[in-house]
Amino acid sequence: MYVKIERGSCVSCGACWNTCPEVFGQNPCDEYSELVEAFRFCGSRAEGEVPEELAVCAREAAGLCPVEIITVREE
Ligand code: SF4
Repeated sequence: MYVKIERGSCVSCGACWNTCPEVFGQNPCDEYSELVEAFRFCGSRAEGEVPEELAVCAREAAGLCPVEIITVREE
């Protein structure tokens, strides 16, 4: 499952990483949301491939993002 975060528009509310910490975390430098390291494409903090078993929590997190910057879709 493809996941993308438009990190530059993140408001660091914490909804995604509190809802789905298996997929999302807070970057310690800029404080924006990022993908956990295991699922990143080529080291990208913003884009990656997440296992199917985490689809429900990733989608829930995307639905809770107040600025709607998380994309989750089947590849
Ligand atoms: S829910 Fe959206 S705005 Fe909030 S921390 Fe996650 S990506 Fe950023």
